Amino acid sequence: MTMIADNLQRIHDRIAKTCDKAGRSPNSVALLAVSKTFGADAVVQAHAAGQMAFGENYIQEAVEKIAALSPRLLAHLPMQWHCIGPIQSNKTRLVAEHFDWVQTIDRLKIAQRLSEQRLPHLAPLQVCIQVNMDGGPTKSGVAPEDALELARAVSELPRLCVRGIMCIPEPAPDFVAACAVFSRARALFDQMNSAGMGLDTLSMGMSNDLEAAITSGSTLVRVGSAIFGERG
Ligand SMILES: *Cc1c(COP(=O)(O)O)cnc(C)c1O
Repeated sequence: MTMIADNLQRIHDRIAKTCDKAGRSPNSVALLAVSKTFGADAVVQAHAAGQMAFGENYIQEAVEKIAALSPRLLAHLPMQWHCIGPIQSNKTRLVAEHFDWVQTIDRLKIAQRLSEQRLPHLAPLQVCIQVNMDGGPTKSGVAPEDALELARAVSELPRLCVRGIMCIPEPAPDFVAACAVFSRARALFDQMNSAGMGLDTLSMGMSNDLEAAITSGSTLVRVGSAIFGERG
């Protein structure tokens, strides 16, 4: 087994163990492999080990990687690409043309551009509203109290499909503190669904805090370094 395949197995074990403890089905949590800064070869290894969904932060880097991989891989097994980094207005076209998901919607204007630029032959772009759950001042994401309004406005756009919310809290000092923040995200998610949003994706949890995120209700963990290694 390659190191990447081995690491993927370890993550699946962590997910399964945490789900078991939390009384959740292991199928209720999906894994996004965050391949930012790693080359197409690393993605090929993960894909060969059964990983289908990949997350990228830097648009230009991602588009080059996707282009390098598409002839080789798309013919056999589909891959799914998630944009999990901030998007400037001048990058929306690249995102709309190359990605399947965007998890970082925090402004209506960016969502509008993505909808206008989504290629007609592609499925609607699947999106999450990024929410700033812990008030980090330099961070992207809408305030929790604004998330429902933004989600409603985005759901009106013809070429976008709102699937859920995503958050990236600051690293917490311990498990209990991490759960406290993630549980607030879960409560917001439930509240938005009570308001009729029909969301199925709560994207939270990374290499170091996926247990707390899953315990609190995450349906999608985004794991980079624990799969591909430390980033340089
Ligand atoms: C880099 C990144 C991750 C993965 O972080 P790791 O700690 O390497 O698992 C997840 N989500 C986002 C938004 C990221 O930028």
